[in-house]
Amino acid sequence: MNIILFGPPGAGKGTQAKILIKTHDIVQISTGDMLREEVNSGSNLGKTAKSIMDSGGLVSDEIIMSIIEERISKPDCQNGFILDGFPRTLNQAIALDNVLANKKIQIDHIIQIDVDEKLLFERIKQRAEEGDFVRNDDNKDVLIKRITVYQKDTMPVLEYYRSLKRLKTVDGMQSIENVSSNIKKMFQLL
Ligand code: ADP
Repeated sequence: MNIILFGPPGAGKGTQAKILIKTHDIVQISTGDMLREEVNSGSNLGKTAKSIMDSGGLVSDEIIMSIIEERISKPDCQNGFILDGFPRTLNQAIALDNVLANKKIQIDHIIQIDVDEKLLFERIKQRAEEGDFVRNDDNKDVLIKRITVYQKDTMPVLEYYRSLKRLKTVDGMQSIENVSSNIKKMFQLL
């Protein structure tokens, strides 16, 4: 089963992806995590990505598509994968369609985790207060930028999938367990 999880920064995509990989024996493909690994490894790609990520901008479609194409081709994806944080621009969504068509792979479910922005600020603030490790891009100013970028560049992707009648929406303003069980219910719908 192949899934796209969709939602603004802080919507809980990562949390839900972690639950789904266990229950469905599939892998999580988080472009954010992959980019952070590149940054930590000190690679050239990581060096290019770091300042963009720290400021809340988007890494180029070209870089993202190259890491996605390579990742999707790995054998551990055969049982299924969850795309988390990708596609984030209309160009990425269209490029993904081409990659998938070439590889004869289909996406079974495109799920939007719907949350309101006020709640997002609360969640990120809580993350910042609870953890002793805070991501460079988890502060208020950068979060505002990330949400702005989401609205400008990523909302069109949502509209794209909606227009294709592919989008399923779950209410993300509930407990982790409820969101998770609502996602499972969506799997029953075609
Ligand atoms: P979030 O928790 O905000 O959804 P991610 O961990 O998915 O954040 O991504 C962190 C940062 O990595 C983004 O703000 C962006 O700079 C970069 N990034 C991740 N995925 C993509 C993508 N598909 N396209 C462009 N940039 C990306």
